[in-house]
Amino acid sequence: PTKTSAEIRSGFLEYFRGKGHSIVPSSSLVPGNDATLMFTNSGMVQFKDVFLGADKRSYVRAASVQRCLRAGGKHNDLDQVGYTARHHTFFEMLGNWSFGDYFKRDAIKYAWELLTDIFGLPKDRLWVTVYHTDNEAYDLWAKEIGIPPERIVRIGDNKGAPYASDNFWQMADTGPCGPCTEIFYDHGAEIAGGPPGSPDEDGDRYIEIWNLVFMQFDRAADGTLSPLPAPCVDTGMGLERLAAVLQHVHSNYEIDLFQHLIRVAAQLTNTSDLENKSLRVIADHIRACSFLIVDGVLPSNEGRGYVLRRIIRRALRHGYMLGVRGTFFYRMLTPLIVEMGEAYPELVAKRELIERALKTEEERFGETLEHGMRVFEEVATRSAATIPGADAFRLYDTYGFPVDLTADIARERGLTVDMAGFETAMEQQRDRARAASNFGGQSQIAADVVKDLPATEFLGYAGLSASDLKLVA
Ligand code: ATP
Ligand code: MG
Ligand code: MG
Ligand code: MG
Repeated sequence: PTKTSAEIRSGFLEYFRGKGHSIVPSSSLVPGNDATLMFTNSGMVQFKDVFLGADKRSYVRAASVQRCLRAGGKHNDLDQVGYTARHHTFFEMLGNWSFGDYFKRDAIKYAWELLTDIFGLPKDRLWVTVYHTDNEAYDLWAKEIGIPPERIVRIGDNKGAPYASDNFWQMADTGPCGPCTEIFYDHGAEIAGGPPGSPDEDGDRYIEIWNLVFMQFDRAADGTLSPLPAPCVDTGMGLERLAAVLQHVHSNYEIDLFQHLIRVAAQLTNTSDLENKSLRVIADHIRACSFLIVDGVLPSNEGRGYVLRRIIRRALRHGYMLGVRGTFFYRMLTPLIVEMGEAYPELVAKRELIERALKTEEERFGETLEHGMRVFEEVATRSAATIPGADAFRLYDTYGFPVDLTADIARERGLTVDMAGFETAMEQQRDRARAASNFGGQSQIAADVVKDLPATEFLGYAGLSASDLKLVA
């Protein structure tokens, strides 16, 4: 039976409500309790202090649908978008938690029952991984659930390989941590990719859908692990990945929600091929950008605001590539509201602000995008394999091309950017600016004060009125 994204959202919450979980609303993309974290990148972020024992809740079981962003900061999937079937910048994470209540047995039972009995996934398409030493989890899958051993994979730590499976989770170098077990769906032999743990696991045949983390240790500064008095469960499942499975499509971009967005993007950009990668990127980016603005971020040149600016500019460049020579991106907001406004009323409430912020940024970058693209073409023609750092810097400084945008364009031509050279050029400019400002000590102090303001408090956005700014405070 196929299910819409909305039905999956509510089906998930209903299931866990029935198992005694309190339904907790999504928190902001801007973490309120963690200065070290740029964006909320999983459902557990709002519960971090509960795991650390610094916060108490009235419940010991919770479930949520959390809006997440993995662009910039610790998790960055921006460069995966448009290249894999399964990565977004913005996505929704379905999660359930036990705070010292149930542990491995029930966590595994619930996940399996929801996926197979409630949502009806075929059992023989599901694979699981466990941490290599976690025999308890292995036995639960093998003996109680009855998964054949050839579809249970033991995985170790893959330190330093960002996209390889890693079945040991830790919040930081010290503190709560523990093994995890992950559930994968086999999309079929016609798709390239190997099972989890194999050398070509990064293909899109076996797609990870759910991660169940068992927080059972406290890691001390010297690395030793001691058992937590009350072990916890923290799980996360990508709504879009589950929707792809339940709607019998391979890519997240083929699910209902994305297909609607992609169709509008195709109209706005006059594109007939609905599989065009740029349409996927645009559909992904309108979600990230709109929700960042909902959560108080505005385009700027640093911090979170610069991540937003980079994502907007990437979307605009894809529009340009499809032949757009004017504004279009802000018009993606209306179809997004149609798709997500019911689940996220704040999107409707802040509609005008989002639209105006996007349109202003679009007009601003529109003034230099075309010229910058011509400069890029000229540089690409005379560069063998690498765009020189000085040219990447000129694109950045004169045409407003964030360096990751330049790198992304270069990647499409099989070129790379000399990042070290770019950094050197940046550094030289900073030195020049510093030397210049030494003539007026006061203005340097003022500049430092402005520099240290959190990006979300950026107040100098042209075209927005004071009342708009109050909305985002
Ligand atoms: P992958 O290995 O596919 O990159 P991950 O191991 O980084 O995923 P987790 O950190 O375990 O993902 O997050 C829990 C779940 O959130 C994943 O199992 C997946 O369903 C979903 N998820 C993670 N990253 C993304 C993303 N960029 N876009 C959409 N869903 C995601
Ligand atoms: Mg990942
Ligand atoms: Mg993974
Ligand atoms: Mg994972």
